[in-house]
Amino acid sequence: MNAKEIGAKAFALFMKNQRQWKAKPYTNDNIEKFRQNCEDAGYLPEHILPHDGYLINLGHPEKEGLKKSRDAFLDEMQRCEQLGLKMLNFHPGSHLKKIAEDACLKRIAESINIALDKTKGVSAVIENTAGQGTNMGFRFEQLATIIDNVADKKRVGVCLDTCHTFTAGYDLRTKKTFKATMDEFDKVVGFKYLSGMHLNDSKPDLGARVDRHQSIGKGKLGVEPFRFIMNDKRFDEIPMVLETIDAEIWPEEIKLLYSLEKRK
Ligand SMILES: [Zn+2]
Repeated sequence: MNAKEIGAKAFALFMKNQRQWKAKPYTNDNIEKFRQNCEDAGYLPEHILPHDGYLINLGHPEKEGLKKSRDAFLDEMQRCEQLGLKMLNFHPGSHLKKIAEDACLKRIAESINIALDKTKGVSAVIENTAGQGTNMGFRFEQLATIIDNVADKKRVGVCLDTCHTFTAGYDLRTKKTFKATMDEFDKVVGFKYLSGMHLNDSKPDLGARVDRHQSIGKGKLGVEPFRFIMNDKRFDEIPMVLETIDAEIWPEEIKLLYSLEKRK
């Protein structure tokens, strides 16, 4: 497996082509091979964080778009179920300036409820966003509102993307600001919901509300936030996924991240 070769202990994947609505169902052979590969490489389902398709908008303001999104999301949750995976990571959704923010958040929660109702063993993991355009989920309060409206709290979680957190306006660059941001996350959402991290440096500056990833240490965040994360017990048992722009240097970035860990 690729992830193993580059020294990664966790990995993300797309369940199908993320820019298309429909995909062929998995065959038993597909499923068997995937499970076998993971087992051979020593990856546990808890360490795998698949991402849903980019077209899905669980807060879609219009009936047709909402139905299409809910169907596609359920299909992805069922694919996770088939593969024996425990989590599906997704961007919450956008109001497209056609419904109020609060109505959009409730609609997202309802979409999650529908998918959780029809599946077993897979959690819906909401990723915080940069707040670009009309994307919801960039304020911790918005994540909390979604979770509040999800019926099965045991199967909902949050994935924090460092680039999105920063460009949404939460500073992470110094010990003090990192602590303040994480304290606020804990107060508003709660660390018990933290199910994954996306580790990305950021091209845009603090609060720019623009989603542009950069390689670790080469953007506006720099290396320090990643040192804080690697040495904070609250992030110990969750999958961390690199989504940085230059796949060529992922092995070096992984090495860099592990080198930041102080010996325990
Ligand atoms: Zn991300």
